[in-house]
Amino acid sequence: MTTVAAYAVPAAKAPLERTTIERRAVGEHDILIDIAFSGICHSDIHQAHEGWGEAIFPMVPGHEIAGIVAEVGPGVTRYAVGDRVGVGCLVDSCRTCENCKAGLEQYCTNGNVGTYNSIGKDGEPTYGGYAQTIVVDENYVLRIPEGIGLDEAAPLLCAGVTTYSPLRHWNAGPGKKVAVVGLGGLGHMAVKLAHALGAEVTVLSQSLRKREDGLKLGADHYHATSDPKTFEELAGTFDLILSTVSAPLDFAAYLRLLRTDGALVNVGAPEEPISLSLFSVMDGRKTLAGSGIGGIPETQEMLDFCAAHGLGAEIEVIRADQINEAYERVLASDVRYRFVIDVSTI
Ligand code: NAP
Ligand code: ZN
Ligand code: ZN
Repeated sequence: MTTVAAYAVPAAKAPLERTTIERRAVGEHDILIDIAFSGICHSDIHQAHEGWGEAIFPMVPGHEIAGIVAEVGPGVTRYAVGDRVGVGCLVDSCRTCENCKAGLEQYCTNGNVGTYNSIGKDGEPTYGGYAQTIVVDENYVLRIPEGIGLDEAAPLLCAGVTTYSPLRHWNAGPGKKVAVVGLGGLGHMAVKLAHALGAEVTVLSQSLRKREDGLKLGADHYHATSDPKTFEELAGTFDLILSTVSAPLDFAAYLRLLRTDGALVNVGAPEEPISLSLFSVMDGRKTLAGSGIGGIPETQEMLDFCAAHGLGAEIEVIRADQINEAYERVLASDVRYRFVIDVSTI
């Protein structure tokens, strides 16, 4: 075991504080990673606030991890000391169920092990990326291609794959009209990725405040959802709508923006349930679906896709003592477009 510095949430809703945690000794198939950068995902805030149900405290959040391999176990074959690597939302799964075998570890039917706020196979709580190091089984480690900075790569490990996976599954590409709801951490990656995949991209944001940015990121159109005219003008327009919004939305209003057979795919994880008339999907044979992060092979595919297309996240690098302030700014939708912690400041 090694003691390392970290930032932790001591109890639900409490501010983060500098502390120390223990990392396990490097096992046969483990990799020790010196973390360089760690992204702040809105999911970190939901969990720190215990908004999704009972959580484990103290909590060290962080599942957008980028760093350098510092040590490898004797059985490790795929990575060597000095490699540029990443860790996303998962650090283990059963490896034997149908979904694990298909590379869909995020849907492991026996329950996967989250990077934090989870219990590992050793029975100990897992601690995430707001820490100097992490020890992870090599099968749950990703390779960060040369050409993407570690800072702009970190958010790809969650925000990148969470949007890439549904865009690919629902065939975003040439000839398809895709709308992205919410231009935050996930939303801005969805715009970049959907544009790179060749789709015609529309941003639906609460206001026109970030319009110029949205167009620079690759959007073809930009509309404010605070303007009721948006919902009239765009009725029946989209093949695919991806909602990245962290709060409950009026899904009926967004379903009306779909063409016949269109799909509204939700990746936002609001803390409250929604209520919806089912006539919203019957009329026009529409689909309302959800999608959770991505599996290990698809996460690697996304990283390679980003490298090939010169894509990284738009980031604001912060010191560790600014995390609490960054949380407040994320909650106020004041993020352009992902906060990334410089872990050397922990
Ligand atoms: P974020 O950076 O805070 O972005 C969310 C965006 O939603 C905001 O920038 C804002 O965009 C919009 N928004 C916020 N409050 C709103 C409201 N009341 N009404 C309408 N729009 C609102 O958060 P994120 O890190 O991208 O995460 C977004 C959500 O996805 C979170 O709930 C997170 O937990 C979840 N998530 C899910 C997965 C998954 O596997 N499915 C993975 C990661 C994250 P505008 O200012 O442009 O309107
Ligand atoms: Zn996340
Ligand atoms: Zn499994």
